[in-house]
Amino acid sequence: MLVKILGSAAGGGFPQWNCACPNCRALRAGTFPGKARTQTQIAVSADGNPWFLLGASPDLRAQIEATPELQPRSEADPSIRQSPIAGVVLANADVDHALGLLLLRELQPLRVYATESVHRILREDNSMFAMLERVPNQVTWTSFAPGTSFPLCAPSGKDSGMHCRALSLGTHFPAYVSNSWWSELKPSDASLGLIVESPSGKRLACMTAVPEITDTLLHELDSVDVILFDGTFWSDDELIRMQGPGHNAQTAHQMGHIPVSSSEGSLVKLARLRRQRRIYVHINNTNPMLNEDGPEHRQVREAGWEIAEDGWQLEI
Ligand SMILES: [Zn+2]
Repeated sequence: MLVKILGSAAGGGFPQWNCACPNCRALRAGTFPGKARTQTQIAVSADGNPWFLLGASPDLRAQIEATPELQPRSEADPSIRQSPIAGVVLANADVDHALGLLLLRELQPLRVYATESVHRILREDNSMFAMLERVPNQVTWTSFAPGTSFPLCAPSGKDSGMHCRALSLGTHFPAYVSNSWWSELKPSDASLGLIVESPSGKRLACMTAVPEITDTLLHELDSVDVILFDGTFWSDDELIRMQGPGHNAQTAHQMGHIPVSSSEGSLVKLARLRRQRRIYVHINNTNPMLNEDGPEHRQVREAGWEIAEDGWQLEI
């Protein structure tokens, strides 16, 4: 199975348009010892064609243009409009994770997998997503329940050989969801981790919003080969310290992210997973571990973790 990390930053990207934190300032000034990143986007393929996207980031158009494997291939299909992208699996309905669907609106057949609640938010609470249903067989919406395994299939129904299973990690729907909707939605549908299994049984975990590390989650991670994990914040009060008083900033925990550092952080909590390849993704622009000369970066690398960069490809 091939895995592409097209984007590795949290919402807003790095640098973020309205951010003047030390990281963003130094990056713009050309003095930052580290790399710019687009918003997190993962793509998987059993054998190089077709590809399935995990999430649909707001940077998706530029990410496709930076990735030849995801561009139309005239040698494979003589039609003018075509794409090796067969489908999208959504782990939540966040803007940073679902907005990119609207960038795929040009009448290309696609299959979109999500929980029933996420489908309803996008299709019934957001009229703009009707752009994905303008012609018959444009987007095929396919619902899945957390905990059950489902095959990743092309819009034609052709099975890719890969399977996916979602774990319920968080119960909060995005802030834009109308209050009247909440009573109709299932909390367990809100925020998921995805485990993708290759035709040969290799497993990738993609978990970009993890509010806590439970024994159940640890048990699941024990059985995977590669972990792409929530690296949003280094510390719980990172945004509050960065923005100062009066900005209504939230803690990492309030935003649904376990921090990387501290005795309750993911570096410590996941220390026993040494067999797996462990990679932080979804890294916020304020996170000091982005600085490749800094002690936080060194600490993460010495613990056996990698810090994802845009454009990485893994083979599992
Ligand atoms: Zn910043």
